[in-house]
Amino acid sequence: MTVVKRMNGQNGTFANAGPNMRLYASEEAFFDGSASRGKGLRFCWDFDEADTTQNDAFGKTATHVYRKPGGYVARLTVVDESENISSDSCFVEVLTPPSQGVALVDRFPKGYMGQVYQSGNTFRCHLIESAAWYGRLDNCAGKEITLRIFGYGKHVPPPPSVTMVSNDRTFSKWFKAVATHSFLEGEWKVLEDASYRYEAAKECMEITFKPDQDPLYVSWSLVYTPQHLRQFLGKVYLMDCVTVERIGSSVEKRPIYLVTIGDQEAVREGKPAVWIAAQQHGYEMGGGPICEGMMDFLVSDDPLALEAKRELVWQIVPMVNPDAMSRPWFRYNAHGIDLNRNWDAFDSGSGHDAECPEPEVEAVKNTVGEWVRRGGEIAAGLDIHDYPASVNGVELLIPPGPHTQREFTQSLIREISPGKFPHAIAKANNSTDPGTFCNWLLSAFNGCCAFTLEVALGGFGPRNSPRKYAAVPRNLTAVGRSFASAIYRAYRDSQG
Ligand SMILES: [Zn+2]
Repeated sequence: MTVVKRMNGQNGTFANAGPNMRLYASEEAFFDGSASRGKGLRFCWDFDEADTTQNDAFGKTATHVYRKPGGYVARLTVVDESENISSDSCFVEVLTPPSQGVALVDRFPKGYMGQVYQSGNTFRCHLIESAAWYGRLDNCAGKEITLRIFGYGKHVPPPPSVTMVSNDRTFSKWFKAVATHSFLEGEWKVLEDASYRYEAAKECMEITFKPDQDPLYVSWSLVYTPQHLRQFLGKVYLMDCVTVERIGSSVEKRPIYLVTIGDQEAVREGKPAVWIAAQQHGYEMGGGPICEGMMDFLVSDDPLALEAKRELVWQIVPMVNPDAMSRPWFRYNAHGIDLNRNWDAFDSGSGHDAECPEPEVEAVKNTVGEWVRRGGEIAAGLDIHDYPASVNGVELLIPPGPHTQREFTQSLIREISPGKFPHAIAKANNSTDPGTFCNWLLSAFNGCCAFTLEVALGGFGPRNSPRKYAAVPRNLTAVGRSFASAIYRAYRDSQG
């Protein structure tokens, strides 16, 4: 396996788009790519990954004025004298100037407030395409803000934040929004200090609160985007036990990363792999912090983590569907295909149909296939998802098959018992949905085990204990840490 220590580059050429920025609309943003490395570099800047122009400026440095408040992914692509290409991005948070007063903004990755009508400090938001709402209030500190969000009822697409179980599309009395002060740097917290009201006849949820700081991002759920992943990988990719590779691109050409964690000897000696895939579905953003927690544990010096890196190779694709994690879509990739019905069956009748593997699925399939062709063994596969409101908080779903009887599976079930693992339960899942990552692994690689992890998402936590365990990153990274150690312990126990 090629060891690529430079996350964004190859052959000694790598782009560096410089630091993230925060400024007001109409101020000049200054971009500096001079930390990029390579011979005879040419520079090309795209100031807004979400628009259709891609070559906005050329040169090592560039300036740009963003007229509209929002948040923009700016991408730098460098090409060296041998035509090696490398790209990197930075995030520009563009705030509403204070002179313009309180504003509700959604022009940033995952942002969506529907059709918005403002009257003073009250915003009426009509959700049309998606009930996964996410917006930012500018110049709101100390003001009483009211959001009236229409779209919580049976006449609109399923609102994941309020769907309890059994297709109940109405408001849950347990629901609370989550909020943070920065797109990338902030910590999502449950918006406790707010009053929530539901008008069934109007299918409207009303939230009234008084922010104490500007700006304030408010959402039905924590949000995790490719920029969040980039930020995390930037902290770990230089470690000896970590390799980050770009294994492919999404439909919209966003990178798909594979993170390998393991001792170099473990990789060389061909120790079995645990393959982990996350974030196939656009509204299931909890997979981001869960993977961060897993990786955080695995790269650590914890004695169990050291052992886990000696005995297994951890192959993690933390974001299979980066396009959906950039846009307010519910579930699919940019072709409108449900990736988790696209692995080995292309016409499942569930979600949208496709006649062939999508580029995101193909990238991962090829990488797993290559591992096996080189003689690599697969100990287990894990697919990370979020139920809008899982009953227990964390549920390990075990698809049917011969692997359910194996010692590894039985041992993992014992690890996930609620006594050992708060808010968690392991249960059989009779899903034989063709085309899922798990079912593909089980059918393609004889002898492996595969599981799906479903974690509660939405600002209120699991149905059985809504107040105790909110789906915020701090709780989810803790789940990820515990889960990685549980997988390793189960593996060790199964080796006798
Ligand atoms: Zn899912």
